[in-house]
Amino acid sequence: MKLVLASNNTKKLKELDAILAPLGWELVPQGQLGVPEAEEPHCTFVENALTKARHASRLSGLPALADDSGLCVDAFGGAPGVLSARYAGEPKSDARNNQKLLVELGENDRRTARFVSVIVFVRHADDPQPIIAEGEWNGEILSVARGDDGFGYDPLFYIRELDKSAAELDAAEKNRRSHRGQALSRLVERLQARH
Ligand code: IMP
Repeated sequence: MKLVLASNNTKKLKELDAILAPLGWELVPQGQLGVPEAEEPHCTFVENALTKARHASRLSGLPALADDSGLCVDAFGGAPGVLSARYAGEPKSDARNNQKLLVELGENDRRTARFVSVIVFVRHADDPQPIIAEGEWNGEILSVARGDDGFGYDPLFYIRELDKSAAELDAAEKNRRSHRGQALSRLVERLQARH
């Protein structure tokens, strides 16, 4: 099955593709089909993911998969949340986002946070029964970045039981544990149950 991915984030594409390719699902990033990025005007992950999936499907004519994800920091009441990609403003920059997170959190010793991912699958743009799956990954915000892998806030996201940051995990291990990996395996179970 060919699906359009409502994102041009190559790192996200790689993470999702590692799980979907063995199932025979080919993910095509929307940019390759000339689909521009959708607006993400909503204040919840699920609304933004649905909006992105419907937009990609409408413009490509293909079934679509969208992930809306972000980092929710407890000391900030869940921010930056849906605004994670642009936390430090435009143009979006992982380096500036991480720097801002370190400055805002300062010496605060309440450092718990979680990554959240909501993945939505629509068969077509007006699908009345989208499949929606969610995953969460708990960790703590480091004071100093560690590791070179992954993307986004991974170098500041510490997993205590491994004594590693998310950027120190190899791709397979991150996929087994991550918010996105969990959401996607739930989605795949439900997709397979449907057919
Ligand atoms: P989206 O493309 O609107 O879903 O933006 C998600 C943003 O949340 C990314 O740009 C990252 O800043 C952050 N994020 C989401 N998932 C991850 C992850 O697995 N690692 C690190 N940062 C992530």
